[in-house]
Amino acid sequence: MRKKVCLINTGGTIGMARTEYGYAPRKGFIRSILSQMNELKSEEIPAFDLIEYDPLLDSSNIAVKEWIKIAQDIKEKYEEYDGFVILHGTDTMAYTASALSFMLEELTKPVILTGSQIPLCEVRNDARDNLITALMIAGYYKVPEVCLFFGNELYRGNRATKVSSDELIAFDSPNYPPLAEAGVRIKLNEKVIKEPGKVLRLSELQSHNIAVLKIFPGIQFEIYEKILSADLKGIIFEAFGAGNIPESNGALKRILERAEKNGTVIVVCTQCLRGSALIGEYEASLSFAQAGAVSGYDMTIEAAVAKLYYLLSKGYDINMVKKLMATDLRGEMTLIKATKAT
Ligand code: ASP
Repeated sequence: MRKKVCLINTGGTIGMARTEYGYAPRKGFIRSILSQMNELKSEEIPAFDLIEYDPLLDSSNIAVKEWIKIAQDIKEKYEEYDGFVILHGTDTMAYTASALSFMLEELTKPVILTGSQIPLCEVRNDARDNLITALMIAGYYKVPEVCLFFGNELYRGNRATKVSSDELIAFDSPNYPPLAEAGVRIKLNEKVIKEPGKVLRLSELQSHNIAVLKIFPGIQFEIYEKILSADLKGIIFEAFGAGNIPESNGALKRILERAEKNGTVIVVCTQCLRGSALIGEYEASLSFAQAGAVSGYDMTIEAAVAKLYYLLSKGYDINMVKKLMATDLRGEMTLIKATKAT
């Protein structure tokens, strides 16, 4: 039987029109392009209904409010469709995919985000293939996860990250294998795909004051002391290598102590594309250990941000947020132990 997919257009390059000021989203434009694509009428492609958001957004403007809308729409229409495809700008697609992976608990159907580097309206584009393959996987394949499809690969959404601003292979999943590859055939990598959940539950998010701080040689921690107020609920450090950070003559210790006193959750991720941040692997992560920080292991920054919003929205106390931040909830992290003998 021909399956049915719900296609939600949030904006982004894929559906943009050429205007005198450059590419820009235009209401109704993608609907008219899709209606001219005869291949979409093929029996091989699932039937789909298009929902166009208003306004259509460059994904730089997509955040918690829009994540909630997408998740609510999926929840509301869940029984009507075999899967969902979300058209989204590439810039923040990995953040939205991560957020949806936490909000949509116990998924039983595919939710696939895709987009493109060149819009559908151009003769030479990556949009057509991304759209068609995403629709086929969403309709016909058993992948009960929030995924991101781009450049012939299907990634777990909370493992994906944008790695190129201008190549057609714009995403990667550095710490987790692709869930599927679309070559001559679409091949699922079943071993790494999650089991389906039971009944979908929607966990809504709220916005919280959080921060991401990338460490660099010569960082003056004094400058950041002011942002570490009691209003800051969580801070993700993008530390060096396996979770290391310069001492800066005690300045680091002061800001970490301040964060701990204020009840700010401190999460340590790595600025490397691959591998894990693990507090305790090197002495240079000692200050984090003393401040009660938690290891983010191999989580992407996108997943760490979304997870922090998610856990803070649950209303847990700080110890629970810390514990769950360092627990694998949706396949977003690989837990490892420090190699040093203690
Ligand atoms: N600026 C665009 C966006 O993220 C880029 C894209 O769609 O690829 O919305």
